[in-house]
Amino acid sequence: MGVVVALDAFDPEGSTYMRQVFPDVIEQGHPLHATWTDHAVGLFVAKSRVTRDMISKAKKLRIIVRHGTGYDNIDAAACRDNGVMLCYCPGISAMNVAEVVLALTGACAKNLIEVSRQLQAGERLNKKFKSLYSASLLTGKTFGIIGGGTIGQMVAKKFIGAYEGNVVVYDPALPSQAWGSIPHTHASSLEEVLPTADVLSIHVPLLPATRDIIAAPQLKKMKPKAILINTSRGGVVNEPDLWEALKDGILASAGVDAWVREPPTKEDYGHVFEMPNVVTTPHIGGSPAEIQTATCRAMVDRMKEVLID
Ligand code: NAD
Repeated sequence: MGVVVALDAFDPEGSTYMRQVFPDVIEQGHPLHATWTDHAVGLFVAKSRVTRDMISKAKKLRIIVRHGTGYDNIDAAACRDNGVMLCYCPGISAMNVAEVVLALTGACAKNLIEVSRQLQAGERLNKKFKSLYSASLLTGKTFGIIGGGTIGQMVAKKFIGAYEGNVVVYDPALPSQAWGSIPHTHASSLEEVLPTADVLSIHVPLLPATRDIIAAPQLKKMKPKAILINTSRGGVVNEPDLWEALKDGILASAGVDAWVREPPTKEDYGHVFEMPNVVTTPHIGGSPAEIQTATCRAMVDRMKEVLID
């Protein structure tokens, strides 16, 4: 067996497990790390970009395992062309992503961040504060879900449980039966969901076909008091169009956990951070320590199945 390379740094507990299973793993700081394309048979990746050029150079490479859900930082077509197996670890962070969606939805609907900021600044009695405080009710509302896979289904259950919501889902690749007993309406197009949703939550992978699936034309079809939640990937929602829609009152508010440029900095997104109707989080869907460790273990087990077992 050749060498396994950890391209990124992983959580300490997960890394300990990685070293138990692969004692010779090359981690960051190792002298051979920079020239991994010459040595790697297996590659662990989190957020680093793995390009076609790298994959073509890595003649010994048999498998890449991506930490987490989605693999948009890895050239999947180049893996296929070069006979490299590409795996990821879906589902482990799903429960936490669903909790983040619920938290963002509540924060948006109640204007929580802005109201809190104004209260702390002593603006309690001003008129603007009162109008912000008369936030929208979520109980019994319609919750649109785009992408009805693992996370979409968990989010649906939470919307139903927390808000007695009506769920409308759009997922062209998933039959309605895949949702089992979760009450929902299966939409036959994205356009069908847009005008009905009070809250729209996106749960698709970033692929050429899903890039910008929510842009100005789609935003204009949404209810004027609707809330948009994006915890999937930055490029799925067209960012400039979303900021415009929020400024123009086409949407009430948005909760954003996934960004085109990550981590989201003040330099790139300072103008957004100042908007009172955007609740911003820095891609925290998979951040709890137990999720980091569990994902790392799953990643190592996957590599072990292919290279050792
Ligand atoms: P999944 O593969 O279980 O589900 C994705 C679903 O999207 C699939 O059912 C697929 O058919 C559907 N889909 C694909 N193209 C579509 C389209 N054009 N319109 C509607 N539906 C479409 O994935 P998942 O585990 O539910 O995760 C969804 C996404 O969430 C991931 O791809 C990843 O980008 C993101 N994610 C974010 C975080 C975070 O920290 N914010 C964590 C985990 C995952």
